[in-house]
Amino acid sequence: RTVYLNGDYLPETEAKVSIFDRGFLMGDGVYEVTSVLDGKILEFAGHMARLTRSLAELGMGNPLSEEEWLEAHRQLVARNEVTEGMVYLQVTRGNPGDRDFAYPPEDTPQTVVMFTQSKPGLADNPQAKTGVRVISLPDLRWSRRDIKTVQLLYPSMAKMEAKAKGVDDAWLVEDGFVTEGTSNNTYIVKDGKIITRQLSTDILHGITRSSLLRYAAEAQMQIEERPFTIAEAQAADEAFFTSASAFVMPVVEVDGVTLGAGKPGPVATRLRELYLEESRKSAV
Ligand code: PLP
Repeated sequence: RTVYLNGDYLPETEAKVSIFDRGFLMGDGVYEVTSVLDGKILEFAGHMARLTRSLAELGMGNPLSEEEWLEAHRQLVARNEVTEGMVYLQVTRGNPGDRDFAYPPEDTPQTVVMFTQSKPGLADNPQAKTGVRVISLPDLRWSRRDIKTVQLLYPSMAKMEAKAKGVDDAWLVEDGFVTEGTSNNTYIVKDGKIITRQLSTDILHGITRSSLLRYAAEAQMQIEERPFTIAEAQAADEAFFTSASAFVMPVVEVDGVTLGAGKPGPVATRLRELYLEESRKSAV
């Protein structure tokens, strides 16, 4: 596989980063994941805007222009012959040459890493036809979940716990309400209305979420942005989650309780089709 490191395209075995990199020592970095369908990048502008925002919230600038990012995405997709899959990018505060809690001088070069993963059949994911099952777990992450940092230990622990319980993912709960999934935004559907938590520092501002809500509003669907509980989810007609790599994924079981008919409902199914159709149109 060809990967990107600080302006160079290299075989993955030749891409080397210092052990003093603050991404490695302190989780001091941010990332983005975009999907590729038909060899094109989905929701590129949205992901670029969030990247700049995450960097700014951590006092960092954006090392590349949007045109340079797009060129790097396209180069990697072409060199690795990705038709369906994803592109990962990461920017860390770089290598201060030593370990220190204080940030290094601002002229310290950031470390920029990118790679692709081919996932043939991504759009036709069979899980979307059966739906997935989730459990709830306490949300033990830090309080700035709106910044897409590489600190993913708790989401990893939660996914492992879900896996150990034989289900697909965990919905995280704080003060009695669902915040989001381990790596996705969460929704329930009641009497035709789509309910999802409003934006704040409590959740990541999903790019899929923002586009999907726009497409749904354009299709005259009803949307309510407010927190919901696990009990409300269990009593809902449907549930689903969204992320760049899962698109719209129906959820058919929450903490052992089957929702509705136990299969993907009409709203989630329609939203998945709508999302794939619309996001393909604006792909670059
Ligand atoms: N919430 C969390 C915690 C995530 O990690 C992600 C994506 O990785 C999302 C939500 C969904 O965001 P997006 O739709 O931009 O992929």
